[in-house]
Amino acid sequence: MNGTSHAVIGSATGFIVANSLQTSPTATLLFVGLGGVSGLIPDLDIDGKLRGKITLSHKVIRLSALIIGMMMIFYSFIEKTREDRWLGIGIGILIIVVASFIKQKHMLTITGIAILLGGFSLDELWLILLGIYIVIASFSSHRSYTHSILGIVFFGIIASNLEGSLEIHGVFYSCIGGYISHLIADLKILPFNKRGIKLFLPLSSKEL
Ligand SMILES: [Zn+2]
Repeated sequence: MNGTSHAVIGSATGFIVANSLQTSPTATLLFVGLGGVSGLIPDLDIDGKLRGKITLSHKVIRLSALIIGMMMIFYSFIEKTREDRWLGIGIGILIIVVASFIKQKHMLTITGIAILLGGFSLDELWLILLGIYIVIASFSSHRSYTHSILGIVFFGIIASNLEGSLEIHGVFYSCIGGYISHLIADLKILPFNKRGIKLFLPLSSKEL
């Protein structure tokens, strides 16, 4: 099933939640959006369809890191005292070397780390957890942990923290509903799916 279908099914789930809770038009729109996004999240794993889309271009990040590294060297050279200068230059060189290894396949991990740091600076637990989720997803093989009960539980914790932050009842149901709708749509019993999902990882790797 492609990304658009997952987003549509997830949005429909959000709409059902809004309808059953009789929410305001604004909350309905929010739930439809959250359901749609949550319906895409499981495919953030390796070879998932969403992977290449949400991440920044590695060229932009690499160029920024190169500039920061060079500025660091330059600044250390003119501003710092003797010992600090060599340390600063060393760090600058390290940044440039590390940056030269950045490839597009690392970008999802880097995006996750950025979200994690953003969560810390905004003091939002759901954002910190989402960052951790994305970092883990970036190392998970396709249709594995993000498509399992463990994934549902982890995402559920993110969703309940988001509901706590927004203080809008129904946010949790829209997110978890959208997420679960994705896993149902990926089940092997459906005729258009060649592969199923490993729902009971790590206990069993049987495809359902
Ligand atoms: Zn999927």
